[in-house]
Amino acid sequence: MPTGSPLGLHRVISDVQILPQQAWRLDATPELLSDDEVVIDVDTLHLDAASYRQLAEKHTSTAGEFDPDALRDEVRSIIEERGKMQNPVTGSGGMLIGRVAQVGERSGLGLSVGQEVATLVSLSLTPLTIVDGLAAWDGRSANVPTSGSAVLFGRSIATALPDDLAPELALMAMDVCGAPALVARIVAEYAERTGTAPIVAVLGGAGKSGVLSLAGAKKAGAGTRIAVVRSDEEAALINDIDVATQVVVADATAVIDVAEAVMSVGGPADITVVCVDVPGCEQGAILSTKDGGTVIFFSMATHFAAAALGAEGLAADVTMLIGNGYTPGHADFALDLLRDNPGVRAVFESRIHIPQNMAT
Ligand code: NAP
Repeated sequence: MPTGSPLGLHRVISDVQILPQQAWRLDATPELLSDDEVVIDVDTLHLDAASYRQLAEKHTSTAGEFDPDALRDEVRSIIEERGKMQNPVTGSGGMLIGRVAQVGERSGLGLSVGQEVATLVSLSLTPLTIVDGLAAWDGRSANVPTSGSAVLFGRSIATALPDDLAPELALMAMDVCGAPALVARIVAEYAERTGTAPIVAVLGGAGKSGVLSLAGAKKAGAGTRIAVVRSDEEAALINDIDVATQVVVADATAVIDVAEAVMSVGGPADITVVCVDVPGCEQGAILSTKDGGTVIFFSMATHFAAAALGAEGLAADVTMLIGNGYTPGHADFALDLLRDNPGVRAVFESRIHIPQNMAT
């Protein structure tokens, strides 16, 4: 058995040397091609929210009729063509859960055959084959039951599934676990530097990464915590759980409205977190943030140019962070937030069969 690249370069099908995430196509052969790889029998994929929304909107007619079969066909074609599930428009992937099938003798991931695991690296770089044509999936949820194989490299990350949470719930939390860990770190750093509890605003505060970010901010010592949500229904949901001190309804893409909404309840924020799964939230987030403050763009629908040029155009002296999906300890931190906050857990349970606005 040869030793390949711990970065998975030996799986990249390309004339130039690029990483699996950048590659159009991967060699997804469902067996060990290197002695540090791990092969997983896949049970469920969880598609990234920005990716699922983009596909769902694409397959919804102008009359509002959603075609889940067309969505499913497109996901199947992407996987078959690319050897991975990476949405070509959003560039994002998601996560998967499954059972360890083979472990290369030099693998350092600490996994053993038969173990139930969730991968903590994006589907956008994970070699993936499916054998059931996605027949068990109705296309109406970002959770995709399937059977197939995925491959982890020497430098991937995976974790055992917790035995006290439903696998789908754990998968959804792990998909967005980078958000609360990063928010908690920035809140704690701010509090230590200034001796005060920061004001935190979360755009998309009723979504999965949004509620976890609010809960993480609270745990790390944030003061005022503002949830910006899309509708009165979402406001009622968040008002019922103890993660935000203020809840306001605004369209996060309506720049002035969202900034005014944040100001009306104690803003501008010291730290603003963008957890909305649609494009166009950059300037509203920047305008909602104090000079000297920080904006965390967790959303994969964020446009770097819109953020950078938007801040310049507003003469806004803010630090802008890309929401790195990896922070050490991120999965355990998110799962503990779910365990400790029944309200947060209820929000996740209500989203297992998402999306509400495309339930036709
Ligand atoms: P989610 O659960 O679907 O939450 C998104 C929230 O934004 C929902 O509550 C949604 O409301 C709300 N929303 C949509 N449009 C809005 C608008 N115009 N104004 C106000 N709120 C609006 O999504 P998620 O799983 O938390 O993911 C959020 C983002 O994080 C996505 O862009 C995803 O790609 C990204 N992400 C990043 C990483 C990373 O590593 N950085 C990892 C995973 C995910 P409705 O439900 O009513 O539509």
